[in-house]
Amino acid sequence: MAIAKPVLGRTIKRKIHSIGGRKTPFIAGHKLLYTCNLRCEMCPFWRRPDERLLSLSEEIKMMDTLVEADVSFMGFEGGEPLLRNDLPEILKESHKRFHTSMVTNGWLLKSRIKSISNYLDYLFVSIDGLEDTHDRQRGIPGSFKRAVDGIKEAKRYLPVSMSTTITENNLDSIFDLMELARSIDVSVNLQVSYNYSTADKISPERERLHHILIKLKEMKKSGYPIVNSYEYFDAVINSWYNNIPWVCKPWSTINIDPLGNIVMPCYVLNEYSGKYKVWEVNIKELWNSYDWGQYESCNKCSLSCYLEPSLFSWKKPSMIQERIINGIGSYIASMF
Ligand code: SF4
Ligand code: SF4
Repeated sequence: MAIAKPVLGRTIKRKIHSIGGRKTPFIAGHKLLYTCNLRCEMCPFWRRPDERLLSLSEEIKMMDTLVEADVSFMGFEGGEPLLRNDLPEILKESHKRFHTSMVTNGWLLKSRIKSISNYLDYLFVSIDGLEDTHDRQRGIPGSFKRAVDGIKEAKRYLPVSMSTTITENNLDSIFDLMELARSIDVSVNLQVSYNYSTADKISPERERLHHILIKLKEMKKSGYPIVNSYEYFDAVINSWYNNIPWVCKPWSTINIDPLGNIVMPCYVLNEYSGKYKVWEVNIKELWNSYDWGQYESCNKCSLSCYLEPSLFSWKKPSMIQERIINGIGSYIASMF
């Protein structure tokens, strides 16, 4: 991927477009399928049958529409993306157009990483605890070992982070996980589990979570490889414990379901139920006729995929350092 065009070029176009308060998404999140080979307690998606999946040509049509809308970043997820045999072709097309990342549960990673590594800028692998905790939360014995083996192999080719969902069940082992991240030399991206209506309700009890969040922020300060920004921890702590809300901007991300439908306002509130086919609407018009204002003080979730873009500001030097300078640095490093 040439980073200049999708990221820098389109950022300038979006800035010009935003004069007068017009909104444009800059990140796309696309579920390639709902089907998964794991059975995570907190996840509603593996419980849904896939009606059908987009063909490669439909995936390309979707991507071209997103380029037209000036989207810079594409994140693939599922279900489990590695279950799609045409994944290398899809990622290759994405990589020509966007900064491209993917999240996987890692079960198939070791055997398939070589087929996809050239087309990814960043990879997230879900790890929720040490072996017993992870396997229990992810529902399949052996999933921890497969994921860690996958991480060790994948980090030979590209930047990798662990993606960790904090639940009631792994709250006490989160700090062990930080040591694991250090020992295998990867960073950790954290999110607090949300209680979806169609999944097990294992979001952590708020009072128990409070001191964990404070401690995680301190650990980041002392050098633990935590991807979440300081602003992320401050926003969640302020909102959930001090009654000072953060401003949610769900419009910064456009989510697209496995059928190619746009999920609005965010996939948390409507639990991934899409309405408009992405290539059948004018995204810029849709984005600027929708009432986003009613969601600004929602603060129901703390999913970093929504919170971090909502908090990002060119006026915050620490965020520019972490999100832009380090991000470009790791991209350049991954080229060698
Ligand atoms: S690995 Fe991801 S998609 Fe699969 S069941 Fe777990 S959370 Fe859901
Ligand atoms: S806080 Fe979470 S649930 Fe609420 S609008 Fe923002 S992304 Fe959606």
